[in-house]
Amino acid sequence: MSLVTDSPVWRPFTQHALQPGAYKIAHAEGAWLTAEDGTRFLDAISSWWVITHGHRHPEIMAAIRQQTETLDQIIFAGFTHEPAEALARRLVEITPEGLDYVFYSDSGSTAVEVAIKMALGYWRNRGLSRRRVIAMEHAYHGDTVGTMSAGARSVFNAPYEPLLFDVARVPFPGRGAEQATFDALEAFCRDGAAAFIVEPLILGAGGMLTYGAPVLAEMKRICETHGVLFIADEVMTGFGRTGTLFACEQAGIVPDIACYSKGLTGGSVPLAVTMCRREIYDAHYAPERARAFFHSSSFTANPIGCAAALANLGIWEKADARARVAQLAAMQAERASRFVDDPRFSAVRHLGTIVALDLDVAHSGYASTLSLDLMRFFNARGLLLRPLGPTIYVLPPYCVTAGELDGVYEAIGAAANQFASRAV
Ligand code: PMP
Repeated sequence: MSLVTDSPVWRPFTQHALQPGAYKIAHAEGAWLTAEDGTRFLDAISSWWVITHGHRHPEIMAAIRQQTETLDQIIFAGFTHEPAEALARRLVEITPEGLDYVFYSDSGSTAVEVAIKMALGYWRNRGLSRRRVIAMEHAYHGDTVGTMSAGARSVFNAPYEPLLFDVARVPFPGRGAEQATFDALEAFCRDGAAAFIVEPLILGAGGMLTYGAPVLAEMKRICETHGVLFIADEVMTGFGRTGTLFACEQAGIVPDIACYSKGLTGGSVPLAVTMCRREIYDAHYAPERARAFFHSSSFTANPIGCAAALANLGIWEKADARARVAQLAAMQAERASRFVDDPRFSAVRHLGTIVALDLDVAHSGYASTLSLDLMRFFNARGLLLRPLGPTIYVLPPYCVTAGELDGVYEAIGAAANQFASRAV
């Protein structure tokens, strides 16, 4: 086992790498990671939800190699390059119709920051001071201060409060409780908010909480009625994760602003985009407006990232990528159904290629170390799974096989026997 924690020289300022027992990974391929000492792990969470078709996909690696032959990084202000232009054209074609403008950055958090700035700028440039952002209970939109303001993970936000701006929070639309969400959203919209930001169909870091496409459609309708901008944070859901290329497709909605990252390059290298409708662009750049959208990101439109993303979109053009997602979704649905009436789990959720299972851990005193204990339990069985408290989720790369997936659920069953209140 390769530990990095005792290094006298290298002290990473990240809690995750410092966690005792961190493995030093030397190689990744498909759904598998290999540590320096040869230990192998099935990457059942796609390395924090970024890897889509598999690690080191040959077509994406080839595109990256080819791009490094000609152009690595240039300023993207007053200068442009073909990978950025070609990628923007393709993104406009494949995202919901009307998202015609593309802003490049390099992480999901930045894509969301940019979206919020676009929304605030939209109102300011129209001479209206709308500052309030509406977000959802349990939301997660990133770890920068602005995105934390919109997010609701209180344990992570608490040390930094008060955060940057005033956010009004609607309740999560749990089954049967949707009306409370609609009513709250309607009330906040009526008061005049700048935007509503939401993770479509599934709230990720907040606990892999799912809600239906009709709910998403209704929330969009309410925003539209009151002229509040609708921001879809598809950083996690984009590029096939929910069964369709984008989650918004399932509700038949076109957001005013949408954020994509993680799977945009197939997870190979960092890149993000914020896309918006013409009105948002015109509010900043139409001839009578001041030319002012201030966000100068050093690595904006990095050519290697753009080339990787173009190769990724090339993979999506082939029928077998979508077929593979449909197949994985069916495999996941079948396995999730095995646990539905299992007393060791208090809830089981399935959406597209994602399954989340809430361990029933009613007895007190467990929750604090539970995620870590579970993670270690799975690591010892050759699996990368990183539960969110009692929620174990399976979010694998699309190349995972049925046999590999069975191994994951066998380990989850074993974990349930050890950690759930009631073993079977
Ligand atoms: N939005 C959502 C919905 C996310 O899941 C994440 C990351 N987990 C982010 C934003 C932030 O992305 P990044 O970590 O790349 O900054």
